[in-house]
Amino acid sequence: MARASEAARAQLRWRLADEGAAQQPLFAEEGPTWRAGHGEFRDLEFLEVRAQRVINPVPPQSRMSFRYTINAYRGCSHACRYCFARPTHEYLNLDAGRDFERRIVVKVNAVERVRAEVQAKRWAGELIAMGTNTDPYQRCEGKYRLTRGIVEVLGQARNPFSILTKSTLILRDLDVLAEAARQTTVHTAFSVGTVDDEVWKLSEPGTPHPRRRLEALARLREAGVPTGVLAAPILPGISDSPAQLEALAKALVEAGVESATPIVLHLRPGVREEYLRWLADVRPDLLPKYEEIYRRRSYAPKAIQAEITTRFRSAFDAARRRR
Ligand code: SF4
Repeated sequence: MARASEAARAQLRWRLADEGAAQQPLFAEEGPTWRAGHGEFRDLEFLEVRAQRVINPVPPQSRMSFRYTINAYRGCSHACRYCFARPTHEYLNLDAGRDFERRIVVKVNAVERVRAEVQAKRWAGELIAMGTNTDPYQRCEGKYRLTRGIVEVLGQARNPFSILTKSTLILRDLDVLAEAARQTTVHTAFSVGTVDDEVWKLSEPGTPHPRRRLEALARLREAGVPTGVLAAPILPGISDSPAQLEALAKALVEAGVESATPIVLHLRPGVREEYLRWLADVRPDLLPKYEEIYRRRSYAPKAIQAEITTRFRSAFDAARRRR
């Protein structure tokens, strides 16, 4: 089998936002050849690569609460318009728009690498976060089953881990998640930033409906898998009206969520351009507002964050009292 040329290998080198210290080459055995998806995956393309390392350290300057991550896929068919991982596709000379949503890099050796890495003497068994850059239960997990394999390996190794997802596909793995939760510390969470149908269809077109995510949350909990919700992102002018925040708070409380903090949209350079292009199509009237909020910064001003948090908390508390 022909090895990838140096140029082809160089093309596959990329540096990830949450893995800055771990710039790593990825190798496609036959060079960077895209494989067309078939059947239910026919609208996707896959680049199957072998990674040198799959458990990646988070840069020391990161404010994240975890020190290691696993991302078995790059690109995400969930296609959220605000996705902060979009620019990572540009390291592959792909674009952060359609390519990010349809051309998925698959680390086909992820399960075997994780098994080897957690057994290494130098590995101290620290918590590993999944879902930090792309969704581990995006559509192609139905085909490759890498997340399932990784969950099994981490459970057997009694290595704590967390999973953040927007997908109900996680229910396929109830058995291995419940078993892992008996062996080690496991935490799963769903991102649910809105329950407004229109906003969901527009801003997260490839994801399962947010109410189905909340149903999945209940099933995980029943199976003994600790789970929660990240109420994120709240999109200024799109999903932050009092009525929308109230509906979100009510849905979370009805799903048994005991606490949730809303997180307002974060638009760093690279993501901002993609998001504003989309906004110009769907809500051009909001461009001046976004220009004002995000022109000089990636985070919304504290006053806006505080207003949304206060509104959401009071709706959440009211929903809990009624319940
Ligand atoms: S599910 Fe997460 S990783 Fe996937 S597109 Fe949406 S925000 Fe990005």
